Amino acid sequence: MMQTELTSTELTSSELESSELETDVATGNGSTDGARDGAQGAQDGTQDVGGARLTVLAGPTAVGKGTVAADIRERFPEIWISVSATTRKARPNEVHGVHYLFVSDEEFDRMIADDELLEWAVVHKAARYGTPRQPVLDKLAEGRPALLEIDLQGARQVRETMPEAHFVFLAPPSWDELVRRLVGRGTETAEERERRLETATLELASEKEFDVTIVNASVREAADQLVKLIRSPNISGKS
Ligand code: 5GP
Repeated sequence: MMQTELTSTELTSSELESSELETDVATGNGSTDGARDGAQGAQDGTQDVGGARLTVLAGPTAVGKGTVAADIRERFPEIWISVSATTRKARPNEVHGVHYLFVSDEEFDRMIADDELLEWAVVHKAARYGTPRQPVLDKLAEGRPALLEIDLQGARQVRETMPEAHFVFLAPPSWDELVRRLVGRGTETAEERERRLETATLELASEKEFDVTIVNASVREAADQLVKLIRSPNISGKS
């Protein structure tokens, strides 16, 4: 297991308030071992991903997962980032096939029925999101590092089928900052925002299930740290 200092083991709102406003990496704690033990039990249904590393990035809503992923896409094109399918409507500037595969409910149903999704979830009680399985397996078979940027429910599903993947939690520097980012984005209605904050509270409590935490104080630094983890074969977070 990677020997770095643990900055925060459990992110409650108050702990977040007092956490340092700097990007930092921390390994998981004892609870993470427990989570891994749980994953071991699902080995029967696991999939061999060859030598390449699959990294799963999750974290609370509006923490900046998408922005960090976009920064990696731009600066580190050798790292393949999965394009999720979603039933959500495209926002202005979002491009089908680049940001998401924007599909109908019927098409999403079909993808589930045909077992085309590695994982899927209803996010914010609003829309369905899922990771097309085959492109992930293809990239890993090619030996290319692959990154999934998904929600907590999805990350838990991937841990069941691909426990050898590396699970990274992106944390906000503080709860206030998380709220500020969510409001600042201005793309959600007040009701939607309320729902997302509710989800975020639950999501923050899941940090201990992950192998590593990266605090997203600076997008560039967080992206650099994530790329370092993706590239390092020795940092697995698994004992
Ligand atoms: P947004 O609608 O803001 O683009 O994304 C909402 C949430 O959906 C984000 O937390 C994002 O991580 C999550 N998400 C995006 N793609 C997937 C996916 O393929 N599977 C799952 N489970 N969550 C996803």
